[in-house]
Amino acid sequence: MKWKAGIVTLYPEAFPGPLGVGVIGRAKADGLWSLNTINPRDITEDKHRTVDDTPAGGGPGMVMRADILARTIDKMEAVPGPKLLLSPRGRPFDQPFAHELSEQPGALFVCGRFEGVDQRVIEARELVEVSIGDYVLAGGEVAAMAMIEACLRLVPGVLGALASRDEESFENGLLEYPQFTRPREFEGRHIPDVLLSGDHKKIAQWREEQSLALTRARRPDLLK
Ligand code: SAM
Repeated sequence: MKWKAGIVTLYPEAFPGPLGVGVIGRAKADGLWSLNTINPRDITEDKHRTVDDTPAGGGPGMVMRADILARTIDKMEAVPGPKLLLSPRGRPFDQPFAHELSEQPGALFVCGRFEGVDQRVIEARELVEVSIGDYVLAGGEVAAMAMIEACLRLVPGVLGALASRDEESFENGLLEYPQFTRPREFEGRHIPDVLLSGDHKKIAQWREEQSLALTRARRPDLLK
């Protein structure tokens, strides 16, 4: 199966960016996923390639035009799956959402810029607004990359060892336990004895306790 990402962006040169390296980049080279970008400026017909205009009702900044964006989205018809609009007002993106997306054949990501996009294109093209956190970025590109990367890690074949994924933060509703590797001693700090004991039951128990303690201390909201 090939997972298809379609990106509507004023900055196609930003892609694949970090999506072109590491396991995600390798998976792309192996044909497990594909990426297509389209620039709304290429859809314009005026001399200045205008994609935005001043907000109706006044106020600062510019708004991306509904007609140009709609035409751009329509040109990306081959991308299967949901049509997402990156937006600080959207549904919070989290690990369960990443799982949902990874089970789709792909998704279209519409990256906003300026003050955002005209409300009418959101409704007319049934865009689902998605936020990557309670802060405001300059554009949707970095948000789209974060979502695509989180989602692709869950697409079968992208990561070699599935077992390592199951114990990661958020997969079981907890934060991950602390990890250690060689050397056994680093600046006077030692790997906890239990991890070197070879007793797998005790190791699993220690990790679970650590996960619970960390989650309680840092993210009690996850335990509710
Ligand atoms: N005026 C908008 C508001 O207050 O909601 C913010 C616009 S922001 C400067 C420009 C674009 O960046 C947005 O249209 C969106 O595509 C993207 N963006 C900014 N913050 C984001 C976030 N937390 N999650 C997803 N996309 C975001």
